[in-house]
Amino acid sequence: MHSLMVIIDGLGDDPIPQFGGKTPFEFASHPNIDKLLERGTYSEISICGNDFAAESLGCILRLLGVEQKDFPLNRAYLELLANGRDISEYEMVLRCNLASVDAEGRLVSFNAMGLTPDEMAKAAAICNELWQGIEFMHLSEYRNLLILDNDPQILHNCKIAPPHESMGQNFDELLSDLKNKSLLLKTFIEETTAKLKPFARNGVSYRIYPWGASERKVLPSFESLHNIRGAAVCKAEIVRGIARALNMPAPVLPGTTADIDTDISAKTGQTLQFLQDYDFVLAHFNGSDEAAHRYDYNGKADFIARIDKEFIGAVLQNVKQPLKILICGDHVTSCVTGKHSAGKVPVVAAEINSDDNAPEIGAYHDIHKFLMGASD
Ligand SMILES: [Zn+2]
Repeated sequence: MHSLMVIIDGLGDDPIPQFGGKTPFEFASHPNIDKLLERGTYSEISICGNDFAAESLGCILRLLGVEQKDFPLNRAYLELLANGRDISEYEMVLRCNLASVDAEGRLVSFNAMGLTPDEMAKAAAICNELWQGIEFMHLSEYRNLLILDNDPQILHNCKIAPPHESMGQNFDELLSDLKNKSLLLKTFIEETTAKLKPFARNGVSYRIYPWGASERKVLPSFESLHNIRGAAVCKAEIVRGIARALNMPAPVLPGTTADIDTDISAKTGQTLQFLQDYDFVLAHFNGSDEAAHRYDYNGKADFIARIDKEFIGAVLQNVKQPLKILICGDHVTSCVTGKHSAGKVPVVAAEINSDDNAPEIGAYHDIHKFLMGASD
């Protein structure tokens, strides 16, 4: 029997006072999920528990049955894969934000606030001008990657705080350990600082912030893990990177974004097509997480309602074969705090066009047993 895993990113949440104490999932209208629950099961579990950070990277790898020992060090390597590049074991990759700094040298934005996306691309192009030993790869807006020779000091022995958690702190102090341990990166940071001066305005200047060093990590393929063939329908970079690392096809679909404005029906169409050829399909929706980071509980609830109507409803209407369906979150993203946490997320399990009933999901192992036929 084929299986469909639907991950609604950051589906877990806190009670919202404006929703009478309900979470966005509880408040949202989802008649098709309710229909699944007439014979299916509902539970709430924590995917990451205390084992690792409440981030999509680890939580989605775990949902797909990858063991923690096989997780990459952090997401930069998967972002590289998502963009069609790979590195050798002799190289490493760092995330590299275009950040802004005030006249006192304090970090005032991690995302090049004040520049247009076009200006950010121009700034990235300037940083990419033929550098001996460093490749500067522009992803989107303020996000870039740096590829350079593998340096164990930087990978395993260097303190670089994530820029989004370091607002108001002194820029040079934040990067001092990195600059002490790599002359190449020190020179690169200083020379790009000079080259980016023309973008300065209103007392704010723009600088690059390398962090999150990552190295090559070969993951087992989805097929070798479960003896079934899997495909993914997703737009968020980290999930596309995961799909590539597990050797699952994950085509780029026009009209899809990693936010609440995504074309859900484009994802539905691709999912229905994949369900004919693959034993297992992962469909991932990222907008719920983005809305929660913006404290937008209405946006999150509306997006869940749209997924119910345009995705789940369409699947129920179009699939005539027996199908196992599991709908879950990867972690909590609270519309109250705007942050991730390791709390419990809703899990819906159901079988359609079948006489069997889905089991109660009490832990992530039960998901693998149900969808991938794992013995334990
Ligand atoms: Zn998030």
